[in-house]
Amino acid sequence: MEIFLKNGSIEIDNGATCHDAVLKISEGLARSAVAAKVNGKLCDLSSKLNDGDKLEIVTLKDREGLEVYRHTCAHVLAQALKNIFPTCKLAIGPVIDNGFYYDVDFNTPITLDDFAKIESEMLKIINANTPIERFELPRKEAVKLMKKFDENYKIELIEDLPENETISFYKQGSFTDLCRGPHLPSTGKIKAFKLTSLTGAYWRGNEKNKMLTRIYGTAFEKKSQLDEYLVAAEEAKKRDHNKLGRDLGIFMTSDIIVLGFPILMPKGAKILQVLTRFVEDEEAKRGFMITKTPNMAKSDLYKISGHWAHYRDKMFILGEVDDHGESVDGEEIMALRPMTCPFQYQIFKNGLKSYRDLPCRYSETATEFRKEASGEMHGLIRVRQFTLSDGHIICTKEQVEEEFKRCLDLSYYILDALGMRNDVTFRFSKRGKSKSDKYIDNDEAWNNTEAMMKVILDDIGIDYVEADDEAAFYGPKLDVQIKNVHGKEDTLITIQIDFAAGESFEMQYIDVDGTKQYPYVIHRSSIGCYERTLAFLIEKYAGAFPLWMCPTQVKILPITDRTLDYAEEVAKTLLESGIRCEVDKRNEKIGYKIREAKMEKVPYVLVVGDKEAEDKTVNVNKRGIEEKQTVSLQDFVKTVVKENAEKIIF
Ligand SMILES: [Zn+2]
Ligand SMILES: [Zn+2]
Repeated sequence: MEIFLKNGSIEIDNGATCHDAVLKISEGLARSAVAAKVNGKLCDLSSKLNDGDKLEIVTLKDREGLEVYRHTCAHVLAQALKNIFPTCKLAIGPVIDNGFYYDVDFNTPITLDDFAKIESEMLKIINANTPIERFELPRKEAVKLMKKFDENYKIELIEDLPENETISFYKQGSFTDLCRGPHLPSTGKIKAFKLTSLTGAYWRGNEKNKMLTRIYGTAFEKKSQLDEYLVAAEEAKKRDHNKLGRDLGIFMTSDIIVLGFPILMPKGAKILQVLTRFVEDEEAKRGFMITKTPNMAKSDLYKISGHWAHYRDKMFILGEVDDHGESVDGEEIMALRPMTCPFQYQIFKNGLKSYRDLPCRYSETATEFRKEASGEMHGLIRVRQFTLSDGHIICTKEQVEEEFKRCLDLSYYILDALGMRNDVTFRFSKRGKSKSDKYIDNDEAWNNTEAMMKVILDDIGIDYVEADDEAAFYGPKLDVQIKNVHGKEDTLITIQIDFAAGESFEMQYIDVDGTKQYPYVIHRSSIGCYERTLAFLIEKYAGAFPLWMCPTQVKILPITDRTLDYAEEVAKTLLESGIRCEVDKRNEKIGYKIREAKMEKVPYVLVVGDKEAEDKTVNVNKRGIEEKQTVSLQDFVKTVVKENAEKIIF
């Protein structure tokens, strides 16, 4: 039979497998092959081929190849666990960004001390180089098999599979796991792995279920790659905002409040205030009108906006509703807002609007609420209450392009000030081929708006990736994406075109010819969600924030009490020039005070003694610079005021 490759085709015997085919292509390729793609579908190398199939070989150079490799390592982990703790029960073991995990129900929870023993058992399984074989079973048989192994979580998974789904298993030696696959042909192919951490995780992410143990691990093609990764991961842990942000006294959480509602402490609140003022002033310069709208509304508002139909499960609802979102007891239903749009539309609708009023640009530093799943919470990045630099531009269709570009320009300006312009990538998030009912049903409008956005993006000339099924329910988005220290990607800023709101909210304007028209809406954020942006700033700068956003920009250290008055005088001069500063009045040794101020990563530490007091000078310790310098107080103030205004980053 004939099998088609990327370039050309090969002739192989009937009944041959992908592995046979790759052997025929080259022995070298056969050695590095970990899986195959037949007619675009990922499968095992042992899969049988049919005449006319299109075959691609997947190696560890491919992301999918590395995922297969790591997933096999997860199975090796599961087998090792069953060998050591025969009564443990396996839940799920997927691949994630930098490795894999397995959720396991142990009789007695394990600890990090067990890792060495588990790893050495894994190594035994790998060294045995056991073949990995796939088999399929009808549903009843599949349940029976898992009953035999006493794997009740697997039984639950099987029972939830759709009726016509193939139920497959993978067997390596005495160990069998329910799995879609594919897998490496044998365990011996794994060369470098490590178990990395341990946390608790609720079965199916639901806090009503049992808490399981999640064991994280990773695997690489080469030992050197693994070592490199582990060093980087150690560094990342130190920078993780969820740890560092707490250590630095920027934010905290409190059990008595609730998960996902972080508390900003004075330092964090100060940074947010500085950022907010900067953003609001810049938006005003660019023609935005600031609004202040309520945090909640009746369900009626969200019914018009579509949130009630498309977003209700992520909203905090006050009052009891049934499955259709209707009040159970006839009482009025209120809900905390997940976004500002429908509130700002009310302002537009207040009074007759003409084409002369457009574009109408509203902005707001808005508190918003989204009921994210508890398993998703992460520090300041995933929260349930946040402050969004939200805004909406209501404009004619012809104005969309210009306004869209202005939004992106504003975000560029802000990213430059944050020093993050080079840290972001762009994602054109479309509905694409998805027919999910989470989207407003209007094919023509979707196609037109997606085409319109593509023209704009190509005209701007930014590099972007296209992502299907990532749109907002009312239209496509340009998402400005960023990765956290662990490599997980999130959206920082977004600019969206909405074709539906004009009509659904009856936001009409009188056109040049006197006819009534529906406007387009651009939803946008400029700096994104303040809490999340702060999280990325903490991770980027590891606490050594750019001068202009530091809660304390200058710390003044009098050497003795004799120079306390002068220290206060320096502070007064700085404060009057708009520089945030503090005097360390404690009766401690100066060396100790300097060390502590440096640990806090204050940009400037000033030491003032008798000499400085007499000469009206300051001894300047600049962050990141060993050498100290004595300059006149006046010159110092001038320098810092300039660096602050120009948002110089050092
Ligand atoms: Zn699996
Ligand atoms: Zn909006």
